[in-house]
Amino acid sequence: VVTPFFSAQTRRANDPDIKKILIPQCTKHPAVFVALFENYGLESALLPRSTDKDLTLARRYTNGEECLPFIQNIQDFLEYAENNPSFKEDGAVLFQGWACGPCRYGLYAPTQSLIVNRAGYGPQKILAVKSEDLVKRFGPEFFIAAFDGNLAIDILYKLLHRTRPYEVNEGTADRLFDECCEEVYEVMRHQRCRWPSILAGNHLRPLEKLLAQAADRFASIPITEGQLRPRIMLAGEFYVRLDERCNKGIIRQIEAAGGEVSLAPATEFFIYTAYANYRRAQKEYALQKSAKGYFNQSGYAAINWLAHRDEHRLEKAAARLLQGLEEPGAREIREHSAKYIPEHTAGEPPMTVGRTGALARRAGMAGAIFVGPFTCMPASVVEAQQGSLSREIGIPIISVFYDGRDNTNRDEFIHSLVFQAKQKLQSRADNDFGWTQGTQGGHKGTVLLCQSSMPGRIN
Ligand code: SF4
Repeated sequence: VVTPFFSAQTRRANDPDIKKILIPQCTKHPAVFVALFENYGLESALLPRSTDKDLTLARRYTNGEECLPFIQNIQDFLEYAENNPSFKEDGAVLFQGWACGPCRYGLYAPTQSLIVNRAGYGPQKILAVKSEDLVKRFGPEFFIAAFDGNLAIDILYKLLHRTRPYEVNEGTADRLFDECCEEVYEVMRHQRCRWPSILAGNHLRPLEKLLAQAADRFASIPITEGQLRPRIMLAGEFYVRLDERCNKGIIRQIEAAGGEVSLAPATEFFIYTAYANYRRAQKEYALQKSAKGYFNQSGYAAINWLAHRDEHRLEKAAARLLQGLEEPGAREIREHSAKYIPEHTAGEPPMTVGRTGALARRAGMAGAIFVGPFTCMPASVVEAQQGSLSREIGIPIISVFYDGRDNTNRDEFIHSLVFQAKQKLQSRADNDFGWTQGTQGGHKGTVLLCQSSMPGRIN
């Protein structure tokens, strides 16, 4: 018996034969890429989201030991292929990220390509997206526009999470959020960034204007005043924390239990990576001086500066509602994570631990939830450190894991964390004259604020 051979080869973004790119929609971020591809003359569309909670097609080709984001993506891919017979021949490819490193992410694209091929839809149907290929094909301006568009979506999510738990008329904040995201896509569809404008930061003006107006519109949504809601930091594995199908709607769960979510943004990964690359280039140059090392270091310094500048500018534009809720800088994140996670460890662990440490003493922060797919390596590293971190920063922390199935114990665990955080916030209000009810970021009386700064205070 001859075993059939199935190729696991993937496509690259600079391949001119690609006719159309289909992008999975885990959140509102991927539509930024669709709009930008359209802007640069390449047909693209969002892949329909599978509504099959049992992930039936994916389970047929996986053994349950794979990461949940991998399984969710392959479900979306196979369902699309099954519903669109032309997919086999129409030159369309399915978008999948790629990164090198110790965890399994680098295997997603080739393994999915193998599965799609084995399922009968042909070889090389997966596009393994590498930043250098995008830069080669469209120029670095494309990449900068994608970063800024995603930053804008992150900030709209913050406005949504800042407002929705308090709204009087259910659904108002969600509708406004959808409208504002469409406005971001419109900018991405038509604006081409040029270098002089990028360097001066002028290319950010349309997004700044849009976000300032969005903050005003969210601030005008009628809200119930005087609620005591703890802020719960939600961090952990990138895909599970962002895709509500994978995390079983954890943000709405926290809101329903009486909390307000501070979600680690999608762009955190790019900003922290830019900083980590810069630090590594700096160290290499310090060890061995060379012209190449100097240019390397200068290049990464420029990327790091640009990433932080754009984040700062766009956050400032939405300051009416988000003042005090700005993201910590990558350096601050590293400083807070250093004693738990070695600096050379890239990826989620330093970001999850460092962001939580950096934000813990901000107003209203009273709990943290780290999410991860079942058997996720970085999430397990973070879970191992959460007890020490919780003792240091004085707030309750839990880790919850997802395998694609419902789990009432997990739901109860989340509910208990929000309850504990609420008690923590209440006891601060009762015991500490420095905490009082007041205004925060444009909404009145919705959280408890720290009036005095208390250096070194452990809650
Ligand atoms: S971060 Fe976790 S879920 Fe993502 S690829 Fe790595 S091991 Fe899998």
